[in-house]
Amino acid sequence: MIEPLDVIILFVFGTIIGSFLNALAFRYNTGRSMWGRSACLSCGTTLKAIHLVPLLSYLGLKGKCASCKAGISPQYPIVEMVAGVLTAFSFMETQGDTASFIVVLSFFTILLFISVYDLRHTIIPDAFVYAAALIALGASFFGYTTIDISDSVLGALVLSVPIALLWVISRGRLIGLGDAKLFFACGAFLGLVSGAAAFMLSFWIGALFGLGLLLVSSFSKRSHGVTMESEVPFGPFIVLATAVAYFGHIGLYDILAFLAL
Ligand SMILES: [Zn+2]
Repeated sequence: MIEPLDVIILFVFGTIIGSFLNALAFRYNTGRSMWGRSACLSCGTTLKAIHLVPLLSYLGLKGKCASCKAGISPQYPIVEMVAGVLTAFSFMETQGDTASFIVVLSFFTILLFISVYDLRHTIIPDAFVYAAALIALGASFFGYTTIDISDSVLGALVLSVPIALLWVISRGRLIGLGDAKLFFACGAFLGLVSGAAAFMLSFWIGALFGLGLLLVSSFSKRSHGVTMESEVPFGPFIVLATAVAYFGHIGLYDILAFLAL
């Protein structure tokens, strides 16, 4: 039985995870120290504890640094919010089974980190995508998800091999090898039927986003020359599609039924 209060507490807990992911995304593999207090990126003022409360600090400061009034990246509240929602969804989806909850939450926390990192640095960090793949394969092997290990392996291969081939053929121009690795992890987590749905969804979401970007840039005077060649990280689309397929219980049959309309 899921109590509303539990969901709220888990949402708040998730926003705290989100604020750690933000700090990690700024620091991981950039030469900056992983430890030490956060500071304003503009004026370098060390942030007080009161300025580190997820979501509320951003709202309270109206998105500006308390010292120099420089704008704070909306990445902070957005990631905190998304992490909170993911935590609450993971809890509801696993129906109070603690082991499954930890598995699902760990998987999607890593995926969220990969998205943020890919958006900031246009690279998918190997260590994290391998960890996600290991969690997904381990979860099905040890029975913490609804799919079995053969489905897990099949999903991983069917999703990643075409992307890896596309990477080889296009010499990395159309898609990155990191995307193939991410598809491997997501296929291992979702299995074949749901994974195939996520695969198609990721390209549709990516295409819609690309179209939107082209429209905005063609109507905008301050166009930064967004063209089809602009390097748009694809990782976030894979992650979004995986979350939609998993939490929305969308399988290949739903996609096919939608296409037949
Ligand atoms: Zn500042």
